[in-house]
Amino acid sequence: MKIAVIGTGYVGLVTGACFADLGHTVVGVDKDEEKIQRLNRGEVTIYEVGLPELLSRSLGRTLAFTSDTDEAVRSSEIVFITVGTPQGEEGGADMSYVIKAASEIAASIKGYKIIVNKSTMPVGSTRLVERVIKEKTEGEEFDVISNPEFLREGTAVRDFMSPDRIVIGTESQKAAGIMAELYRPLNAPLFITDPASAEMIKYSSNAFLATKVSFINAIANICEAVDADVKEVAMGMGYDHRIGFEFLRSGPGFGGSCFPKDCQALIEIARGSGYHFHLLEGVMRVNQEQIRLTVKKVERRLGGLAGKNVAVWGLAFKANTDDVRDSPAVEIVRLLMQGVAKVRAYDPQAMDNACELLPGLECAHDAIEAAAGADLLLILTDWDELKMQDFRRVGEVMKSREILDARNCLEPLALRRLGFNYEGIGR
Ligand code: NAD
Repeated sequence: MKIAVIGTGYVGLVTGACFADLGHTVVGVDKDEEKIQRLNRGEVTIYEVGLPELLSRSLGRTLAFTSDTDEAVRSSEIVFITVGTPQGEEGGADMSYVIKAASEIAASIKGYKIIVNKSTMPVGSTRLVERVIKEKTEGEEFDVISNPEFLREGTAVRDFMSPDRIVIGTESQKAAGIMAELYRPLNAPLFITDPASAEMIKYSSNAFLATKVSFINAIANICEAVDADVKEVAMGMGYDHRIGFEFLRSGPGFGGSCFPKDCQALIEIARGSGYHFHLLEGVMRVNQEQIRLTVKKVERRLGGLAGKNVAVWGLAFKANTDDVRDSPAVEIVRLLMQGVAKVRAYDPQAMDNACELLPGLECAHDAIEAAAGADLLLILTDWDELKMQDFRRVGEVMKSREILDARNCLEPLALRRLGFNYEGIGR
């Protein structure tokens, strides 16, 4: 099939590259001309495992990139909208990029097309995009459908190619049939429902996962007070198949470009419907507290922050991505710097992005350089590269062997044997 993907960010680029790899003819469109030039030169604009291989296989064959929305839409049967829906000033999703993209698509519709809302959009967005396009077209046949994306940064290609389910929200049998055919090679359960339910599925899923994270973080804080180990607690809980092991890892809180903004958007959707979502507000509060608690722990361990040398390992909001949007690590480093601690940081992939958000941050070229002379080492992202460091060497270069492992990703006993004063979260 012929596909246009409007927006070549984390979701759009992976979506386009995966469909191209499945043999479809894909054109990725972005307003950012520099990004398009880089992609056309074969540069991969984001860090995502498996993406460089996909792009190099398809570029110039089944995959092309352009800034020309008109040409891309004209030549496509299916148009995916994958532009950003960041948090707006009132807390709800800012739909301005989607509306702009829909208007641009409308100007180029000739003959039947399916317009797919793949970005995360509030309930009613399928109708909204439909209205925008209808107002700008005359008698053209098209369907707007909801097809939320569930991929995770860090495992995006694998998630896209082997999804747990594909959700399609449409009342058009024609569109549902074409989408089923498009996704058939993935061999995943296809859940076809109405547009509003599809839109709610995406927000409810993210809010539920965020709730699990805040829940285990709250439990971790109690564990510390009662001398229990949250890792043991989570393991014991996870054996119950109704609960499961996933998303029960305590840490510095959830972040990234999705959970915080999608939870906030769902709180606003609820408010708009007349329901006060106390539970999700609590989830967000626990998450914010977790950031402050991590900073407090550093402060307590060092007897104050001013003038103390803190080595930070990890700035991305989670391992295996260069994304620092709404990263708890970035917020924690900002607070440490506000407390006039001397922070030297290292992240395997997110240094450039983090330095843009944290002017004045001292950046190290590797983990050992970050740790050199530090009064305390703070682990904020659980990259394998960081977990597998030679801690004997780390201890030698540090001023004091103090570790705060805010991801609970290191082995306390082994570190204590090397003379480290180890502290995790909830252990
Ligand atoms: P992103 O910011 O990385 O990418 C958006 C891209 O759209 C940018 O490159 C921007 O230049 C481009 N763009 C904006 N307006 C455009 C227009 N009119 N025409 C062409 N290009 C345009 O965003 P993202 O992280 O890929 O997220 C996109 C959507 O997918 C959001 O709604 C997000 O909530 C959702 N989502 C994201 C993830 C994730 O892990 N990042 C996962 C699932 C869903």
